Amino acid sequence: MAILSAIYKNGTEEREYKKSEIDAHLYENYLKGYLYCPTENCTARLIFNSGLKSYLRTWNNDNHIEGCIHGFNRVKGRVGIDTSYFINVELSPKRKKRALKEAFNIYNMTEQERAESKKKKKQKRTTSTTISKRIKPSTNIVIDGDDVKDGEISKIGVRGPNLSKKTADTLKEKDKGKTRLLLGTVKAVNLDNEGTANIIVIENNVEVSVKFEEAFRANSPNYLGLFHHLEEYISKVKDAVFAGIGEVNTIKGDNENYSFSIFYGEDFEVNKMNLINLSAKY
Ligand SMILES: [Zn+2]
Repeated sequence: MAILSAIYKNGTEEREYKKSEIDAHLYENYLKGYLYCPTENCTARLIFNSGLKSYLRTWNNDNHIEGCIHGFNRVKGRVGIDTSYFINVELSPKRKKRALKEAFNIYNMTEQERAESKKKKKQKRTTSTTISKRIKPSTNIVIDGDDVKDGEISKIGVRGPNLSKKTADTLKEKDKGKTRLLLGTVKAVNLDNEGTANIIVIENNVEVSVKFEEAFRANSPNYLGLFHHLEEYISKVKDAVFAGIGEVNTIKGDNENYSFSIFYGEDFEVNKMNLINLSAKY
């Protein structure tokens, strides 16, 4: 979400500046270091970037208060729509949880079971098509429409966006920048120095690098430092199945291989356990 104004706070002085009221000169000489997020009680500081397209952004290491609408805007180098906003707002935690469990079950089905389940779904659909078609607006647009403006999001999608399930080997160019539910087997857990890890998820010899970056650390601090439990777990358990909801990207300088960013601790599970459950159990 673009930040359109900032609160200037300096001693007892306080006033709101619209982005359009700020220029490089005013910022450098007067506002710099004193601009804050416009959300009430939020203490995140803001930076004004001048240039062809000026914008306000959060200081690198400042966090927004819980519930602040600008709190999801933390992923580096992303332009345009912030998919973590969809993940958080458009998909309820309940729905995400259900989707993860469902995906796990589908992943573990045999070919035959899968075919039967598909058939059942189809039958169900045909019997209710006429009614459901009329009631349900098109919701795909939320996920697939890159041009949807922030303000329009709430108007679209009564039922929330469709969440495409993809195994690691089926990610395509068109998934880039989109929210997906990723499935595969955990091949490796490479711990980093920031309390998180890089998880390699594999399917049919195709690897996807699952990342937990700045936004994840800001959103889910209670998950930091737990990834070594997962490392231990996969050293003992063969075929640990990963299911996670996040954003698809390609690895920098490498357009062939995909990376997958997760923004919230609850958004991924291994063998139906989130990292906290898994850590408590093992
Ligand atoms: Zn804020």
